[in-house]
Amino acid sequence: MKIEVLRIGQRLVRDDRVTTHVALVARAFGASKILMTEVNPEIKDTITGVNQTWGGDFRVEMIDGWRQVLAEKKKDGYAVAHLSMYGQKIGDVQEKMGAEERLLVVVGAEKVPREVYEMADYNVAAGSQPHSEVSALAVLLDRVQQGAQFDRSFSGAKRRIIPSENGKSVEQD
Ligand code: SAM
Repeated sequence: MKIEVLRIGQRLVRDDRVTTHVALVARAFGASKILMTEVNPEIKDTITGVNQTWGGDFRVEMIDGWRQVLAEKKKDGYAVAHLSMYGQKIGDVQEKMGAEERLLVVVGAEKVPREVYEMADYNVAAGSQPHSEVSALAVLLDRVQQGAQFDRSFSGAKRRIIPSENGKSVEQD
């Protein structure tokens, strides 16, 4: 299953840290790319540094506008899953979403335009309470991959963690 994440509506500076965390979760939980608008270019450098140390080729793509990206991705066969606390219960749609070949997960920051709800194939809630796009994204990515994302390796890593019962065990090239 190919998964990409579209971050929309982030406010300059104010949302930089959250957007970085959205990107880190997307990478660590098996997505191949994050597409984002109006963002601090340092986020790209941060993720490049993480890839260099910890492996993989997760990409950050700067876009001009989310409307065009949504339309293009739908044309390319992506099912669009928009994370919103107003959406359907994730337990009711996770199996169907998990069977999609390509999934574009949309996360918001400030108020999300109605159009996004209309363009989405799934409006999905990770619980019907407000929380965070970081946690909502993690829950969705875990549910659709049923944990398999954590068994994947990140090629070309300079540092690899050897899971251990206690302490820190790290292999270094
Ligand atoms: N107030 C905004 C609105 O009404 O659209 C949402 C702000 S919230 C901090 C930012 C993003 O977190 C949302 O756009 C959504 O993607 C995600 N989010 C927060 N709580 C969620 C939940 N319970 N389920 C799914 N996504 C959630």
